[in-house]
Amino acid sequence: MSAKRPNSKLADDKLILAIDIGGTKMAVGIVDGDGNATHVDRTPSPANQRGDAMWDALNRLLDSVLKDAGNPAITGIGVGCAGPMIWPEGIVSPTNIIGWRDFPLRRKLEERFNGVPVRLHNDAICMAIAENWKGAAAGHQNALGMVVSTGVGGGLIVDGRLLDGGFGNAGHIGHIVIDPAGPACRCGGRGCLEAIARGPATVAWAVEEGWTPHTAGSPLDGKTLADDARAGDQIAIEAFRRAGTAVGIGLASAAALLDLDIAVIGGGLVQSGDLLMTPIKQAFQEHAGMTFVKRMKIVPAELDQLAGVVGAAALFADGNRYWAGA
Ligand SMILES: [Zn+2]
Repeated sequence: MSAKRPNSKLADDKLILAIDIGGTKMAVGIVDGDGNATHVDRTPSPANQRGDAMWDALNRLLDSVLKDAGNPAITGIGVGCAGPMIWPEGIVSPTNIIGWRDFPLRRKLEERFNGVPVRLHNDAICMAIAENWKGAAAGHQNALGMVVSTGVGGGLIVDGRLLDGGFGNAGHIGHIVIDPAGPACRCGGRGCLEAIARGPATVAWAVEEGWTPHTAGSPLDGKTLADDARAGDQIAIEAFRRAGTAVGIGLASAAALLDLDIAVIGGGLVQSGDLLMTPIKQAFQEHAGMTFVKRMKIVPAELDQLAGVVGAAALFADGNRYWAGA
């Protein structure tokens, strides 16, 4: 359970109950109209159990956070959830939550909270709008937020507004093609950025090349790989270079397509710092041709663990700039 923050800063004009649901954990907090998050708490997601177990665990967490916050008057409920989903209806089928297939999460929350408005979007979208609202991309009109983790996801702010696309799926940078001859992707495609650069693919590539953890018994994961890369393991360093290069190439394409000011990169692999960021920037510079493409800044995410709940609340930000749904 996370440390709770004091409830001293909240502006009381607008209080959003913010929910962030992933396959590993779920988080709930209270966020005010200025983006201040308090009473944030987390619980593991029983993602491999029946759908009822997920819904019950979410409700226990909601009860506990609301009680802890003194049952404030909530003006809206914002939700970021792992995809895919039918948007804006909020009917979710998260890849990593096997009990939820066509689960009507938005309607279930509207029923539980008796008509308080509920807005729901993809978790990567929520990370992107959180960083644009209150994080590393604040003040920019044209921004890409992306997550490099178990998957590779993203969201786009163009001309100051979230870009949804036809069904809320714009910004899926993980599934732009980087290498037509590359590995098969979970999406059914081939050579997608995610298939090359997601954490498990990066670790698997290193193992295939002969990497074994320097400390016997360490898990075969991104953190161990980063530790060994920092200790000078050439295969581990090359694994990060390979992933970062793919991300940098993808960013050059995104910048050319959308004339972006800034790309914010978050997620587990980015916590490895320069191991990933340096090859990302090198590949970007190599592949970005035109001046308007080269101008895009590439920076690490700032909000980290709070991005999910802040982004869920951002769906209610002033001017509806992050919400075009019904
Ligand atoms: Zn794909």
